[in-house]
Amino acid sequence: MILGARLILLGRQGAGKGTQCVRLSRQFVVPHISTGDMLRAAEREGSELGRMSKLVMDEGGLVGDEIMVGLIRERLLQPDAVGRGYILDGFPRTVPQAVALDEITADLPIDVVIDLDVPREMVLNRLTARRVCRDCGTNYVSSGIEKLPWICEVCGGDVMRRDDDTPEAIMHRLDLYEEQTSPLIDFYQSTERLTIIDGVASADEVSRRITEAVAEARAKR
Ligand code: ADP
Ligand code: ZN
Repeated sequence: MILGARLILLGRQGAGKGTQCVRLSRQFVVPHISTGDMLRAAEREGSELGRMSKLVMDEGGLVGDEIMVGLIRERLLQPDAVGRGYILDGFPRTVPQAVALDEITADLPIDVVIDLDVPREMVLNRLTARRVCRDCGTNYVSSGIEKLPWICEVCGGDVMRRDDDTPEAIMHRLDLYEEQTSPLIDFYQSTERLTIIDGVASADEVSRRITEAVAEARAKR
């Protein structure tokens, strides 16, 4: 039987978290919990939360801590997450969120926090070329010369630029990352839960490094 896992992935927008999370979720057979995906799903459903967060997201801002903590608290109480674990992608994004998460996970603490490190200059290019399937979320890289409409290979949905992948919103998100999210690196380092992984490598190599880090973290327990 495959062991589950409770993991957090930190890293700048465009560092490749999404790709790695999908792989990790298959590998450990645990849900990939992406707060960005949850908010975009709420937007498609037309809920109050979706309408409200859409405005914040399109500008590249952050949705309020209380709302995000409530959303995650509810999700982590679901039987799949309690039973096997999860990969958290996009949460926590601020120190108050991390403090709240420690309280939520007091009984079943996280195994390890991975910081997928890719320099700012490098992610800027990746984000500018990023295209995403509106329906299933698969990521693509634009060469700038695709025939339109671009149809998703996985599900047949429309492949588009995300509403928040405009140059202004990208810059704003990266600034907020330095300001609000990078303090989490210290937060988790000071409690010896952090492993920094160099994300400048092929997706396969990065996967291998992450798997190794998870095994090491477990061996220490
Ligand atoms: P990216 O990492 O490229 O910004 P995500 O899909 O993770 O993309 O998130 C998209 C947007 O959703 C963020 O820019 C932010 O507005 C909102 N969001 C997601 N997670 C959080 C969070 N934990 N706290 C506040 N806002 C969040
Ligand atoms: Zn698709």
